[in-house]
Amino acid sequence: MIYELPSAREVLSGAKTRAMIETLKERIPLLRELMRSCTLCPRECRVNRLEGETGFCGLGPGAVLARALPHFGEEPPISGTKGAGTLFLTSCNLQCPFCQNYRISRDRMGEAVDREALAGAMLELAMKGCHNIELVTPTPQLPAVLESLLAACEWGLKLPIVYNCGGYEKTGVIRHLDGIVDVWLPDFKYGNERDARECSAPEDYPQRALESIAEMLRQTGERLQTAGGIARRGVIIRHLVLPGRVQNSLDVIRLIASRLSKKVPLSLMSQYTPTPAVSGDPLFGCRVTREEYEAVVDVALDLDFENLFIQDVDEREFTPDFNKEAPFDWD
Ligand code: SF4
Repeated sequence: MIYELPSAREVLSGAKTRAMIETLKERIPLLRELMRSCTLCPRECRVNRLEGETGFCGLGPGAVLARALPHFGEEPPISGTKGAGTLFLTSCNLQCPFCQNYRISRDRMGEAVDREALAGAMLELAMKGCHNIELVTPTPQLPAVLESLLAACEWGLKLPIVYNCGGYEKTGVIRHLDGIVDVWLPDFKYGNERDARECSAPEDYPQRALESIAEMLRQTGERLQTAGGIARRGVIIRHLVLPGRVQNSLDVIRLIASRLSKKVPLSLMSQYTPTPAVSGDPLFGCRVTREEYEAVVDVALDLDFENLFIQDVDEREFTPDFNKEAPFDWD
């Protein structure tokens, strides 16, 4: 695809875009330096990714993209009517055994993309009318993704930036994204060390999620700001209810209520679907029951969360097929 580059006057027309370009130019070298002995995430693998070494996420210094598409299955303020402009980035620093995006997170499906190609993918989503640019699991490849975002902004991209991450983040890295990310979309997966451990996550997950989401809230405030029903600034915390782990979910929402905010929108997801890798597993091989999900929603209501996104509990499968043109049932 050929992109018509905007005139210099158009590029410089938005004060926000100008400020963001300056912020990106300042922060990218700082984040790239973290890859020299990699501490981009709490795994702290301390490998030199700039010299080709790889750590837990298996990524090098560049960007690896699995899919770029308008996504209609996110929360209404993210997907709106024209879709989120979603970039599914390869690998993950958690790699949960039950991940519904396992082809991308665990199998590392995707192709290396250079600065211009990824920037072009962002602009293509903008030209399709998407409401935002949604970066999915960007942390392990953040410097390269921001290089492309800088190029896209210089070419005229003005959409809000959504940061969709697993919640296992370093507060210092999140702080570097102040002025770049508009809408934070973190998971809060585990509310105690035991459930984190049993689900193959690091035991410090709850503490890391608390600290990093607190920094996100500091940047944007507790309430989601919208225009025409579309998120412009704020945080939406996501929690996937897991089968047989209601107590984990209750621990998560009580931590959010007591340590973060009850004004922040909370998205409680019932869509857990066993992937082939865990289909026979006694812990992860079944769906969440209506009773389990409703028990979690009831406690969130009792705690007076001001904004809840909830889902039906039904038989629909939620394992996207990323080999298909439209990976999601609702596309
Ligand atoms: S980003 Fe990857 S290499 Fe760096 S600390 Fe995290 S898992 Fe390890």
